[in-house]
Amino acid sequence: AKKAEPGTICFFEAADDKSARDRKALQADLELAVARDELFLVFQPFLNLRENRITGFEALLRWMHPVRGLVPPSEFIPIAEETGLIHEIGEWVIRRACATLAEWPVDIRVAVNFSAAQFHNTGILQAIVQALAEANVAPHRLEIEITESMLLSKYGSASSILNALLQLGITVALDDFGTGFSSLTYLRKLPFSRIKIDQSFISDMLAQPDCAAIVKSVIALARDLNIGVVAEGVETVDQLEYLRQTNCDEVQGYLISRPASAEQILALLDPKKQR
Ligand code: C2E
Ligand code: CA
Ligand code: CA
Ligand code: CA
Repeated sequence: AKKAEPGTICFFEAADDKSARDRKALQADLELAVARDELFLVFQPFLNLRENRITGFEALLRWMHPVRGLVPPSEFIPIAEETGLIHEIGEWVIRRACATLAEWPVDIRVAVNFSAAQFHNTGILQAIVQALAEANVAPHRLEIEITESMLLSKYGSASSILNALLQLGITVALDDFGTGFSSLTYLRKLPFSRIKIDQSFISDMLAQPDCAAIVKSVIALARDLNIGVVAEGVETVDQLEYLRQTNCDEVQGYLISRPASAEQILALLDPKKQR
């Protein structure tokens, strides 16, 4: 056994070293990504079922790495959060989203994802106000998406920022609803305009009656609270029909559209500008 151990340990060390080195390299590259213009936004529509029209888009961040190609946000957002780069990147996302929104019709909104760390940045409110002013976009067209896990760690600063956003006319959505432990508490305490039912519920609802009951109840709850409700991750016509029957306001998912570039969206919204 003594003989085999060093080899075993060495194997794990090598693997750790590699991933640590990989992470360091990715971190260094990410620091340059903003300046090198490697970040970009894609947009995924919200389809309003009552009005039967696209009411807005969620901005989703992408990183085109010069060597690695497309790096998913699940890989680089955590690095951005750990290193503090998320502040610069987050403000860039808001500026970009507002500038893009300025080219769209006034009845279209854009939703931007927030990281917990951004609640620590006291300058964030001013950055948002400035981005809206520079793009000449009305505040009510901007929505901020936050998850309840973010509230868990930073409830104090989060609630004061959320209330300030609301005073500015910016709406806030509770993302990934149902995946945490205290969704209902937050719903009661904070001024959300909308809840987004997590895609895990949508993907299971037609196979699991319990799950369907939850989705139905959340939609009814939103209506009773007089706030909007979006179903995330809608992939099939059957899911869409079920959500229509249960009076869900809005749906989002690959069935309606995958996230698309700003140019594609503009063409979709204004066919005259196509080609
Ligand atoms: P999220 O906010 O919950 O975004 C939804 C994710 O589900 C997106 O993945 C989207 O592309 C994907 N999706 C949409 N429709 C479907 C569908 O029908 N089926 C399936 N399987 N997936 C669908 P994406 O773009 O990879 O983003 C992952 C996460 O990264 C986001 O989850 C969000 O938490 C984070 N993220 C993205 N952009 C930003 C950003 O600008 N800032 C921050 N802080 N986080 C971001
Ligand atoms: Ca989101
Ligand atoms: Ca989500
Ligand atoms: Ca999510």
